[in-house]
Amino acid sequence: MFQPVSSKVSFPQLEEGILRLWKERDIFHKSIDQRPEDRLFIFYEGPPYANASPGIHHVLARVFKDVMVRYKTMQGYRVPRKAGWDTHGLPAELEVERSLGFKSKTDIESFGIEEFNRRCRQNVFAYLKEWEALTERIAFWLDLDQAYITCTNDYIESCWWAVKQLWDRGLMYQDYRVTPHCPRCGTSLSDHEVAQGYRENTPDPALYVKFRLTSESEQRLGQKVPGEAPTYFLAWTTTPWTLPGNTALAVDPEADYAVAEVARRQGPERLILAAGLTGLSLGDGYKVVARVEGRELAGLHYQPLYDPRAWGVDALGFNQEGRLVALEPGETAEKAHTVIAADFVSLSEGTGIVHMAPAFGGEDFEAGKAEGLLFLQPVDLRGQMTAPGTPFDGLFVKDADEVILDDLEQRNLLLRRETIHHTYPFCWRCGTPLLYYAKPSWYIRTTAVKDRLVALNQQVNWYPGHVKEGRFGNWLENNIDWAASRERFWGTPLPIWRCQECGQHQCIGSLAELHERAEDRAKAEALDDLHRPYVDEIALACRQCGGSMRRVVEVLDVWFDSGAMPYAQWHYPFENDATFARSFPADFICEAVDQTRGWFYTLHALATLLFDSVCFRNVICLELILDAKGEKMSKSKGNVVEPWAVLNAHGADAVRWYLFTATPPGTARRFSTELVGEGLRKFLLTLWNTYSFFVTYALIDGFDPRRQTQGERPLLDRWVLSELNALVNRVSLYMDSYNPTDAGRAIQAFVDDLSNWYVRRSRRRFWKSESDADKLAAHQTLYTCLVTLTKLLAPFTPFVAEEMYQNLVCSWFPEEPESVHLARWPQADMSLVDERLMEDTRLVMRIASLGRNARSKAGIKVRQPLQQVLVKPRYPAESQALERLAPQILDELNAKELTLVDEDTDLQREDTAIAAEGGYAIALVITITPALADEGLARELVHRLQTMRKNAGFDIADRIVTYYQGSEELCRIMETHSDYVRQETLSRELVAGPPSAGAHAEEQKIAGQAITLAVERRP
Ligand SMILES: [Zn+2]
Ligand SMILES: [Zn+2]
Repeated sequence: MFQPVSSKVSFPQLEEGILRLWKERDIFHKSIDQRPEDRLFIFYEGPPYANASPGIHHVLARVFKDVMVRYKTMQGYRVPRKAGWDTHGLPAELEVERSLGFKSKTDIESFGIEEFNRRCRQNVFAYLKEWEALTERIAFWLDLDQAYITCTNDYIESCWWAVKQLWDRGLMYQDYRVTPHCPRCGTSLSDHEVAQGYRENTPDPALYVKFRLTSESEQRLGQKVPGEAPTYFLAWTTTPWTLPGNTALAVDPEADYAVAEVARRQGPERLILAAGLTGLSLGDGYKVVARVEGRELAGLHYQPLYDPRAWGVDALGFNQEGRLVALEPGETAEKAHTVIAADFVSLSEGTGIVHMAPAFGGEDFEAGKAEGLLFLQPVDLRGQMTAPGTPFDGLFVKDADEVILDDLEQRNLLLRRETIHHTYPFCWRCGTPLLYYAKPSWYIRTTAVKDRLVALNQQVNWYPGHVKEGRFGNWLENNIDWAASRERFWGTPLPIWRCQECGQHQCIGSLAELHERAEDRAKAEALDDLHRPYVDEIALACRQCGGSMRRVVEVLDVWFDSGAMPYAQWHYPFENDATFARSFPADFICEAVDQTRGWFYTLHALATLLFDSVCFRNVICLELILDAKGEKMSKSKGNVVEPWAVLNAHGADAVRWYLFTATPPGTARRFSTELVGEGLRKFLLTLWNTYSFFVTYALIDGFDPRRQTQGERPLLDRWVLSELNALVNRVSLYMDSYNPTDAGRAIQAFVDDLSNWYVRRSRRRFWKSESDADKLAAHQTLYTCLVTLTKLLAPFTPFVAEEMYQNLVCSWFPEEPESVHLARWPQADMSLVDERLMEDTRLVMRIASLGRNARSKAGIKVRQPLQQVLVKPRYPAESQALERLAPQILDELNAKELTLVDEDTDLQREDTAIAAEGGYAIALVITITPALADEGLARELVHRLQTMRKNAGFDIADRIVTYYQGSEELCRIMETHSDYVRQETLSRELVAGPPSAGAHAEEQKIAGQAITLAVERRP
């Protein structure tokens, strides 16, 4: 038996009930275990970080994962769903630093790494309970009990194994390079991290700074230049703080340079700059006294603006191999404070003379290596100037900018200062401006496999497809080696030890190897936490010289952890060989688009390096989530939508449905509680009302779904079953191409047709009192549609699908699966798909909708019957269809005859209202005869009585007696149309006169006339 269904429903309440049902019957685990072990569909969970509350963007990714894996489960695949948690790295460290009020890395060192890391470990699961609760509430079925956790010893050991593989193949190396460095976090960032932190329109100083030639160079140049005046190279820069580190100037050897004389308060002076840029840099008021080629400037010397050596900064130089070495006292670099020729000098901005500080820029560093430049590093790793005796000593570099500018100005070394706005990188975690800073780091040589990275990407299906060649493809094309080490504390320790005697390195790939190589084996075996500082205490014996080896200080980039999850989640290769082999690569992953440079990249890079394989075959890439106005959500703007608020307001199904159908995955989406509410009304309530309608009449009529109908079904039923099977086919195709959005939209369109066409046009079949074959067919057809919908909707809106399935299926068929999520995906019966019938019906819908437009233009209610409708088809062949469909069209338009015409002009009569669209035109003859007017009033009376039945709280099937008294005309119509009124209102009789005492009575006014109507139940 069906349980009665109220048309009023609270989805959040309904969902709580379903959650209990799933839990009691352990449906989630059954949905995996009941599928064959040899038919796997592999899904990887990208591990989130549980040290902050989950946001709505996490809900977005989680439901898109869920919809696909539920679909695959229903298709008969076994889909294991191991959860995962990311734990290492800056997110935890920053939180702990904040709670302790730390400002820099040294604070951590003096506090103690042991206690610091203990707190980080605690911090990473601060919000675990909330994450688990939200995951369950939105019905993201995930195996939380078996989650992989990146900070366990097993996980770390697998990462060590991966590092060792790279090490043994020469794919891991240490290099002194300019890397993007966060001075607050005190660590390098990888390229993909930098890519996440660019900010547009960042203001920075732009200055024209003067470098005075040495007197010797002035003389050398003077031979070409008549007259005498102090001469300067004019350079342009946006980073004043790098000027103390200047050790060279670069010019374009091919370009023309001008010696321009300008009048200054102190007398004339000469500035050297690119001839094509004099106007831009100097404005008016200069005179070119000579021209020289760039190559002639090379080798000239100038006086440094500052001498950091006087501040105690070490002078370094590049040796033969291009490595940085300290210069002995008295030793000088090959070149210092001299002009070099270079091919990267821009002649479109600045002055054509580039200030070079090898300690701070990638190009500068490379030029330093190539030319043997002096290397000076007057900034420490915290971004503070090391410049005792100067006004900017100890200042953070960006704060030093102004002070340096003032100082240069005072010393007449500044020509001009301006402010520019440009794009500048900031730390993606803490928001500090990044510095390009030369220091040693460990690199993974991803460039060695660049061609494979690109080639393997060809085997990956990206949704949306443009990411493959676009965002991700470009990223791979521009691949540079992965800066994989971090000078931090809470992370997978880099398993590299260095001999303190001979400098030899040793990479450790397992605990067993560590035990074997340790100086103190017992101590190594007793190690029960592989993190710093414990692992740092294990010394190894050097096989080269017998010296003692200590671990290098760095930890691994946290993105290495998550990129290693395909094997590390199984502690491969130390155990679970077979499980790993079965579950690599993944069939499907899904995350937000920022992961193209994060997790998507590290998965792909490590899989290519270690296995020469793709890591995932299909990936859905989700765009950003914005607020209702289309602005980015941020705490500072206060426009963040809190997931629980919207879940409590509308339920998880409504949130899921909105996220799936409102916007395709690859497009930024707007989100607000109101938008979810709109979606709920448009779809879920339409579905629910149809379901409630069905159950109500099924109960009245005692419909038994086990009874099969015989013979051919009526046209309307055949139409809806045709649409239903076409829908099953379409939704399956969309889901097979990882497109839940179009799949969901197709379901929504069907539900709309089901409710607003099929049910509306079948109402009379359900209402009528006799239980004949036609009524049974209507029940059977609507039942089939609803049951199929529960299965199609199960991956999308798992709660309401379950609720309906339990009532529609489980209550009658105990042999069927106990949950819709254990059921099989429906198969389309294409023999029931009738293209012509569907096309015809579309045509009727179209004409009917045009007719309604024409009516509302003329201000005539649909209840008022009209005599004639004129229709002009798009082309003559359509006439046949229209004639065939005339009864339906007339019924929809409440008119009595349909006439086809050939020309638009046939429609333009005085007595017509016209509407046209898409080549169709329709005209309603709006003359209302007295007979038509009577009919219209009869319909209006029925409408009022039906509303009164509802107001009186009668059941739909209750029989009644109707009383009426009032306007003569209305009473006459009650009499002349009594059969019609009785039938429509389920009235046993119509009584002229005052109502009985117990009747529900209302005063009504119709067409300006008063009538008292009353209804009373009469079983
Ligand atoms: Zn930072
Ligand atoms: Zn050694």
